[in-house]
Amino acid sequence: MSYRRTLRQEVGCTGIGLHSGRPVQLRLRPAPAEHGVRFRRVDVGVEIAATLGNLSRQDHATTLCQDGVSVDTVEHLLSALYALGVDDVLVEVDGPEIPILDGSAAPFVILIHEAGLRPLQVARQHLKVLKSVEVTRGGKWARLCPAEHFEIDYAIGFDHPLLRHQAMTFRVSGRSFTEMVAPARTFGFLREVETLRRNGLALGGSLENAVVIGESGVLNKLRYEDEFVRHKVLDAIGDLALLGHPLIGRLEASKAGHALHAAVAQKLLATPDAWELVAGSSAPRLDPALPSLRPAEA
Ligand SMILES: [Zn+2]
Repeated sequence: MSYRRTLRQEVGCTGIGLHSGRPVQLRLRPAPAEHGVRFRRVDVGVEIAATLGNLSRQDHATTLCQDGVSVDTVEHLLSALYALGVDDVLVEVDGPEIPILDGSAAPFVILIHEAGLRPLQVARQHLKVLKSVEVTRGGKWARLCPAEHFEIDYAIGFDHPLLRHQAMTFRVSGRSFTEMVAPARTFGFLREVETLRRNGLALGGSLENAVVIGESGVLNKLRYEDEFVRHKVLDAIGDLALLGHPLIGRLEASKAGHALHAAVAQKLLATPDAWELVAGSSAPRLDPALPSLRPAEA
């Protein structure tokens, strides 16, 4: 039997919001069993639960909204919490978005290490996929299928010579996440940066927190040759965290993004015979190794 877990102690950090460009303070606080993951906007005194029902926008990041108050860019933090098995935590933030930090989930893994984990006296329930569900939009699709473990099989393809095709098959564990996925940074195309800024987005974006792809190459050093697909896996884990339970099943996705990840998760929950809650036998270990932020060998 595995037990729900929270943080052993409070931790925090400060960073810039990717879209607003403003400084944000973040604190992660221990929470009681069954609290789940909740965000508290301390500047306006509203709490927002990390659930699929509170999803609002999912274009360039995942936004949660409750009682008319939102919190943006939650997916990298949710991904680290979900992969490392933190079930119950209160996330305090003093503005409308989670700091982007270096554009990956590695700083959140380091924060969770600093806090440590504490088991709670309540068994954790896993969400086991029993029947495949699929969502298709144009040439893009995402499918959740039965599997023995939490696995992801992801392929991307963009209309750019550097990014025609990358694929990754990944079994999610605390260790594999820390080593292979957490340091992968968010990415964007130089040609799209101007459009984003005109729409008031990515005002805090820079080469410090995103991999930027120009016409002839990448403007900064990559951490992995296939950092792009690894980041998509990171995003997908963060979006699936909104299921509210550790997943036993496989996500298969092609050219998908936040909206499709959420749509397939919603479709699963809306299909009662496609899943069940089961007692889990193990929780992810907090691997002693911290994520490496070194660039890939040339
Ligand atoms: Zn991302």
